Amino acid sequence: MSIVVVGSVALDSVETPYGKVQNALGGSATYFSVSASFFTNDVKLVAVVGEDFPQEHLDFLNSRGIDLEGLERVEGKTFHWSGRYGASLSGAETLATELNVFEKFSPKVPDNYKNSEYVFLANINPELQMDVLGQVRNSKLVACDTMNLWIAERRDHLMETLKHVDILIINDAEARQLSGEQQVNMSARKILEYGPSRVIIKKGEHGAMTLTNTSYFSSPAYPLKLVFDPTGAGDTFAGGFMGYLASTDDISEQNIRKAIVYGTVMASFDVEDFSLNRQRILTREEIETRFAEVKAITEF
Ligand code: AMP
Repeated sequence: MSIVVVGSVALDSVETPYGKVQNALGGSATYFSVSASFFTNDVKLVAVVGEDFPQEHLDFLNSRGIDLEGLERVEGKTFHWSGRYGASLSGAETLATELNVFEKFSPKVPDNYKNSEYVFLANINPELQMDVLGQVRNSKLVACDTMNLWIAERRDHLMETLKHVDILIINDAEARQLSGEQQVNMSARKILEYGPSRVIIKKGEHGAMTLTNTSYFSSPAYPLKLVFDPTGAGDTFAGGFMGYLASTDDISEQNIRKAIVYGTVMASFDVEDFSLNRQRILTREEIETRFAEVKAITEF
């Protein structure tokens, strides 16, 4: 089954206690697509980049089999985000968000994307998320991400988008900000009232939980020895989650639990290096090994 994703394709400048990178490949849709591409060869990207976007990044996305027909290249500069992580590596401090070519972006979903069964609205302005959702016809599952900037500055549009999505995937700080509730479980319960039938809350090194009106599941994070750069962990989680669901075309509770563990495993690789460097050398065998390890550490 195919997945269509809209979100940012970016050049990121990131600083962590372990080093820094300038204008490295990043973006919510980039991390998502590359992660999903380890499970399905039918990932279709909708985004925009500027003239400064290096060809080598396009070559990398192409090498992962990602459909780039919906990736526009226009005059101007690529979206640029810069952020910094403190010693705990929990949550980035945004230093700058330069929307650049995203400021005037009006997504045109290519015809051969429109029947995609799986839709992911990666972190971007909720008006663009809705615009893309309005152009797809046959979706079986729509999931969505967002961040503090949009919760604060585009709340009304975000609340409108949430009425049309099945799953919201966000981190614990965003869940608190969106719901006004301090406890993770209470915030998940409150968000269910906004529209999604399932909420998935990522809690960094404490793993991820999911709640519906009738079910609850929690997965630990993979117990890494070193975290280098958390950028993109959330989008990489979502890519593994949606990629696995699309590849199996099974959205039963049991399979969603497996998909959450695949998301957890993918995120664990992402944080081992800056940008998407770890993903460049990652193999499906390594993914399966970590999946089995998470299964083993949760058995009792
Ligand atoms: P994550 O660490 O999973 O939250 O995602 C980090 C990625 O999100 C970075 O590669 C950024 O380029 C991208 N990003 C940061 N801020 C925004 C924003 N306001 N809209 C869209 N993408 C963003």
